[in-house]
Amino acid sequence: MHVPVAIIGAGPSGSLLAWILRQRGIESIVFENRSREYVEGRIRAGVMEQNAVDLMIRAGIGERLQKESMYQRGVEIGINNSHHFLDFEKLIGIGVTVYGQSEVTKDLLGGLANERHNVLYETPVTKIEDHHSDKVKVTYEENGVAKQLTADFVLGADGYHGASRKSVPDGGIVMHEKTYPLGWLGIMVKAPQSKPVAFFTFHDRGFALLSMRTPEIQRLYLQVANDENLNEWSDDRIWDELDTRMGTPGWELIRGEIFQKDLAPLRSFFCESQRYGNMFLVGDAAHVVPPTGAKGLNSAFADVSVLSAGLIQHYTEDDSTILDNFSDLAVARNVQTQRFSGANTAKYHIFPGTNSFDRKMQQAELEYLVTDETAQISYAKQHTGLPFAHWPEL
Ligand SMILES: Cc1cc2nc3c(=O)[nH]c(=O)nc-3n(C[C@H](O)[C@H](O)[C@H](O)COP(=O)(O)OP(=O)(O)OC[C@H]3O[C@@H](n4cnc5c(N)ncnc54)[C@H](O)[C@@H]3O)c2cc1C
Repeated sequence: MHVPVAIIGAGPSGSLLAWILRQRGIESIVFENRSREYVEGRIRAGVMEQNAVDLMIRAGIGERLQKESMYQRGVEIGINNSHHFLDFEKLIGIGVTVYGQSEVTKDLLGGLANERHNVLYETPVTKIEDHHSDKVKVTYEENGVAKQLTADFVLGADGYHGASRKSVPDGGIVMHEKTYPLGWLGIMVKAPQSKPVAFFTFHDRGFALLSMRTPEIQRLYLQVANDENLNEWSDDRIWDELDTRMGTPGWELIRGEIFQKDLAPLRSFFCESQRYGNMFLVGDAAHVVPPTGAKGLNSAFADVSVLSAGLIQHYTEDDSTILDNFSDLAVARNVQTQRFSGANTAKYHIFPGTNSFDRKMQQAELEYLVTDETAQISYAKQHTGLPFAHWPEL
């Protein structure tokens, strides 16, 4: 069998690519390692940049997003228990949107299922070969049986641990990686909102973050060691530590039922090229950021916007200009996103070896940010998201 486009992975990147291409009549097949329920239930990102929201709306899959998401006009920053509001909307005219990744994937996979799109769940891709030919070979495992097809293009949207990037021979793509010697203890909580916007805190005991998923579900994080034992963190201990790092007179962190606890390692990683022959890499397959900047899902959608624009131009106008520039455009934006996410991580966390001088400089940087309007405008532009280089014709 030969298909125009084979998409590996039905996470946010792969499902949005399949959806957009489908709207323009470009045939694709999607391979997904896991079940649909598993992908839809995966709790990860929660903050969408305006461009990511607009892409879903333009692609005709943003109806529920428009109804159920929460708009936030800025963020709050805590510096050793004093709270400061950065009003992005006042500074640059836009804020951010809260809509969980699980809702994004439910909308996209639901949309694809309604249109009977070919998404093969529990069907991992095991091998990709002949990247430089116009018949890239994809080997996959369906019900335990190895099968093969060929494609004009393979889109590697299979996350950090996927098969697509691993199929590139050593040295084929230059990669850069940094693992942080700390982690985030995350909780999901049934409770009303304690603040109208996300709250990032710098504190002598470490970073903490209050964010939201819905008006009734909150997501909170504490900086901990990357080998922290979650069993040592009772619910009371977590709440007490959050109060210590976030509390301020006259404001109360509203407690509630903790229904999930997890430990997330922090990693920065990116590829210097997002193309190898006729295979393109998008989203976490090509880059991972620490969640401090809330950029993972948004960077994935920026890649999808340019790649889908390129594929539509290629198939409908017989013009490969955008496709040929995809990798350079995607990497240029993703390097800036790495810089922002890394710098935001460096502002708040206590790293092994951080001394009192370093901490004073971190604090001074945040104090500069919360008092200087020019610094705030620059921060707001980056936090709300850099432009997408191309948009698909829809
Ligand atoms: C624990 C965690 C917390 C996060 N929190 C945030 C956050 O708060 N904010 C934020 O912006 N970002 C966050 N992120 C990042 C964000 O979730 C990712 O950037 C986003 O999921 C990227 O989407 P993707 O489709 O590129 O990759 P993924 O979501 O990883 O999807 C890849 C898909 O490919 C499938 N797959 C893998 N291998 C194969 C194979 N061989 N064959 C077929 N299918 C395969 C996987 O099952 C998966 O469904 C978090 C990530 C993690 C891991």
